[in-house]
Order: sequence, then structure tokens, then C-alpha cells
Amino acid sequence: MSYAYDPENIFAKILRGEIPNDTVFESEHSLAFNDINPQAKVHILVIPKGAYVSFDHFALEASDAEIIDYTRTVGTVAKMAGVDLPGGDGFRLISNAGRNGVQEVPHLHVHILGGNPMGRMVSRD
Ligand code: AMP
Repeated sequence: MSYAYDPENIFAKILRGEIPNDTVFESEHSLAFNDINPQAKVHILVIPKGAYVSFDHFALEASDAEIIDYTRTVGTVAKMAGVDLPGGDGFRLISNAGRNGVQEVPHLHVHILGGNPMGRMVSRD
């Protein structure tokens, strides 16, 4: 089965410039912007510019150039936000995928969360 990408998802609209965003950093293949509903002092989303639904989709089908750019962008943004090690006190990376991952927006994103302690890793509700 192949991955089905919905080009009308909100991050696709951000990438097309149809809705605004609070950009933190942009590279050739990636975009980082502040989450509209922050769950920590630092809450930045990093997305690839390509049409990938989830981390597994990206990891399996993106080009090496996209993967390198995306990985480096996460590191650059963590450093810019002051949550990197050894510069800051660390962060949590989250990438939700699909129904069980409780993914709301079906375009790959990692959440960089930091600036305060994150608490338990997974809610058991
Ligand atoms: P997820 O549940 O992992 O798919 O998370 C989606 C995230 O996107 C949530 O944290 C939302 O607050 C965030 N979000 C939704 N719309 C926007 C937007 N227009 N700009 C920035 N962040 C957004």
C-alpha cells in the first residue's frame, strides 16, 4: 500500500503561502515555525517541504538530501531556541503518526518541546 497525502492539510497550505505562520527557520527542504497552541515555553514544529504524511513515509521515500536537510534543521532549530545540549537544558522530540499516534495534521512534523521540564513521556489515560 502507498501513502495517501492530502494536499489540503493545513501545513500544505502554509507551505503554499495560503495561510500565515510564525517562521523560525527555513532551509532548502524544511520549514520550522512556532506551534499555534504551544504546550511548553518552546514549542516549534519542523516540517519537510515535500509531501510526506508521517515519519515512516519520509524515512522510507524521501531523498538523502531531504533527510539530511531535515535532520540538520531539527538540530539547528533546537540550538537557535536555546534548548540544545550542551547550550540548554534539553528538549523532547515528538512525531505523531496516524490514528494511534493521535496525529491531527497529516503532513510530517516533529514537535520540539522545551524550556521547562516535560514530565512523563506518555499519558496512560
Ligand atoms: P499533531 O497532533 O502532532 O498532528 O499536532 C499538530 C500540531 O499543529 C498541534 O500542536 C497544533 O497546535 C499545530 N497547529 C495546527 N495548526 C497550526 C497552524 N496554523 N500554525 C501552527 N501550528 C498549528
